[in-house]
Order: sequence, then structure tokens, then C-alpha cells
Amino acid sequence: MEYMKVKGSILVISGPSGSGKTSLAREVCEELGNKAYFSISTTTRPKREGEEDGVDYFFVSKEEFLEDVEKGYFLEWAEVHGNFYGTSKRQIDKALKEGKIVFLDIDVQGHEAVRRAYPDVVTSVFVTTKDKETLIERLKKRGTETDETLKVRMINALHEMKKIPEYDYLLINDDFNKAKEFLRSCALASLIKTSKYNLENFIEHWKGK
Ligand code: 5GP
Repeated sequence: MEYMKVKGSILVISGPSGSGKTSLAREVCEELGNKAYFSISTTTRPKREGEEDGVDYFFVSKEEFLEDVEKGYFLEWAEVHGNFYGTSKRQIDKALKEGKIVFLDIDVQGHEAVRRAYPDVVTSVFVTTKDKETLIERLKKRGTETDETLKVRMINALHEMKKIPEYDYLLINDDFNKAKEFLRSCALASLIKTSKYNLENFIEHWKGK
């Protein structure tokens, strides 16, 4: 059944800043070893303390980013909290061909675009906190926000929460280890969800001549 095979899958992880989605996604991805690939986005956002170019993001200027958009380098890109973020297409296609689970830590706009581009291979998880107060507390503890950016992130959080129905799974990150187990299950499930890929070909083949 070679003709049916799509090799890998895409796992989209979205949720408000401070929900813990990035740490969760990175840890689960790392634990899956060479079964998984974490896509590193390109951004125009200034680097935060402790972040590294090529590890957390590819940090570029607005001009460089727009050049990459022109070149068709991105599978999707969006403006989030006033900065540009984009997912590069080439690395994802390569990882998919290699049969990997591609982790995409992207916002709700990115989710819509990726689902449109790869309808049969996307599984998505929305990660959030149990309530608004917990999110505010986590963002304050992280110490990366000013009063102004905290306000923007909270407004965006509510907008993002309204998109939960578009996701396959909702993960309330109350207990890190339990949340990790949940996300790992979603990642593994994403690989078998692709069994419906290329259904038209399968039906043609099934019918025979
Ligand atoms: P942060 O600035 O906190 O690292 O990320 C802000 C938001 O941008 C997060 O919701 C994150 O998931 C999202 N994001 C990061 N990379 C991408 C990307 O390549 N595309 C899209 N659409 N969103 C992204």
C-alpha cells in the first residue's frame, strides 16, 4: 500500500503566552527523539534574555522577514502581538518525508493556514491554564512583560480562547507531568490519524479494475 503512505504528521500546539505550551512541546518533542522534529520559527520580535538565535527562533529584521515572504519561504506567517512570525516550509516538508511528527508551536492564525495547506496530516492541541488569574500570574513570574505588553497578551489570550472549537484537543496545563503525557498521546495519535491520507487513491485501488 505504498501509494497511501504519507510518512509523517503535523502536531500544532497553540495557546496563550504563559500557558506553558512551548516548554511542554519542546520537552515532549525531545523525549520522542528522532521520531519528532521541532520547527523553529522566524521572527522579528526582539530576543528575550536567555534566548538563542537558531534555537528558540531565527531572529531577523522586518526587512529580512518581508524578503523571505516575497521569496515564498514560509508555509504560513502572521503578525502576533505586533511582531511577525513565520514557519519555513522547506524544513517541514523534509521532516514529513522522513516520517517525523512535526511540532509547530504557532498561533491560531497559523493553525488555520497549516490546516488548509495539509488537511489530512494535521492534529492540533490548544493549551491553556485553568483560569485567567493563573495566566496573569505565570506571565508576571516570567518577568518578560511590561504592564503594556501584559495587557496586549491578555486581550489576545481571550481572542485565542474563542478558537478552541477549531482544535482537536484541549489541554489544561495544571500539572506539568500529566500535561506532558497528554501531549505525548496527541503526538503519537497524530501519526495514525494520517491513515486516512490519500483516501481517493485507496478507494480507487480497493475497487480494482
Ligand atoms: P512569543 O513571542 O511568546 O515567543 O510567541 C508569541 C506567539 O507567536 C505564540 O502564540 C507563538 O505560538 C506564536 N508563534 C511562534 N512562531 C510562530 C509562527 O511561525 N507562526 C505563527 N502563526 N505563530 C507563531
